[in-house]
Amino acid sequence: MERETLCIQAGYEPKNGESRMLPIIQSTTFKYDTSEDMGKLFDLEASGYFYSRLQNPTCDMVAAKICALEGGSAAMLTGSGQAASFYSVFNLAGCGDHVVASSAIYGGTFNLFSVTMKRMGIDFTFVDPGCSDEELEAAFRPNTKAVFGETIANPALVLLDIERFAKAAHRHGVPLIVDNTFATPILCRPLEWGADIVTHSTTKYLDGHDATVGGCIVDGGRFDWMAHKDKFPGLTTPDASYHGITYAEKFGMGGAFITKATAQLMRDLGAVQSPMNAFLLNLGIESLAVRMKRHGENGLAVAQYLEGHDKIAWVNYPGLPSSKYYELSKKYLPDGGCGVVSFGVKGGRAAAEAFMKELKVAMIATHVADAHTCVLHPANSTHRQMTDDELRAAGVGPDLIRLSVGLESIKDILADLEQALEKI
Ligand code: PLP
Repeated sequence: MERETLCIQAGYEPKNGESRMLPIIQSTTFKYDTSEDMGKLFDLEASGYFYSRLQNPTCDMVAAKICALEGGSAAMLTGSGQAASFYSVFNLAGCGDHVVASSAIYGGTFNLFSVTMKRMGIDFTFVDPGCSDEELEAAFRPNTKAVFGETIANPALVLLDIERFAKAAHRHGVPLIVDNTFATPILCRPLEWGADIVTHSTTKYLDGHDATVGGCIVDGGRFDWMAHKDKFPGLTTPDASYHGITYAEKFGMGGAFITKATAQLMRDLGAVQSPMNAFLLNLGIESLAVRMKRHGENGLAVAQYLEGHDKIAWVNYPGLPSSKYYELSKKYLPDGGCGVVSFGVKGGRAAAEAFMKELKVAMIATHVADAHTCVLHPANSTHRQMTDDELRAAGVGPDLIRLSVGLESIKDILADLEQALEKI
């Protein structure tokens, strides 16, 4: 089926006489006739629901929709994008292990990896996604367990050469995990380019309406854990906490990763998405294909307008022929980009602040990637603690403005930018 159809129909298939709309199973627990029936669930001998911290039917149906959109074999929802990033890596790497990550990733993920997960004993080597093949090779160690990157990095809008990173990961017998939040499966399906696991902050375009925080992990089902038995003992040797089940043997390449993440990480860490939030997320995804087209058209129109304006110092949008990511954008985003554009106003930090004060349609908000056009000056908000030199080193210069172009009329968005630029 086409993605437009999957957005609407995948995940939940009502049987004769059942509700047309995805049901919200707002229940913590589930009833069984005998203890034996329930015991089988605890032994992972039968599939079914017993407690919504591990699995819930509404959440699973929405995960199945995202799984179908990404072309994966299994998926799970999480309570946030942060939880999805954490679980996806922690399901493979533990104390004493090492992970290679792109340096162009969301700041919250960078912090999770370089501070919190480092405290858990996992080492990360960050590589510039534009690095040479030699530099990429040199980042791997014998204890490397995964490679992590973002399709379209937030906020740098750097594109990951997924195919190149997947080949490098596979040469070293480890999977590539790709955060596909900004592209969504409508613009790019990383699994088709060799990635093994995909994560999402569903808080962004998938929900698309500023309504719910959430995350998702999708497994492509093609990574052969057993072929790298020694690297991934958590998947390839018996789990004492589940009566000696070996996930890769019992659930195969298609199911091992998500079953382990659910049975161990969700059981012990509990970052669940609520059924109500999953319902709202599902509503958002129903219109995802239509919305992404419009976000891309509006984003490109804004990028082109800004590039031609004499008060603008620079514009970064991968879909502009002037962008250094234009070739990668044609390869990985053939149907267009997302709605996020970054740029600098001539006059630096002061001009950026003055310009933003004048905006009327674009709202100042930390959020990105939803229906409302919103704007952020990282130097004055999310990255406020950094000096101008530190900001430049992080690729988020003091003049950088991140504009997340929404679904409003492009006429109103451009008129808003025009009137604000006129005043500075
Ligand atoms: N990944 C990306 C690319 C993001 O932009 C974000 C949040 O902005 C996250 C992950 C974290 O997601 P959440 O805020 O849902 O925890």
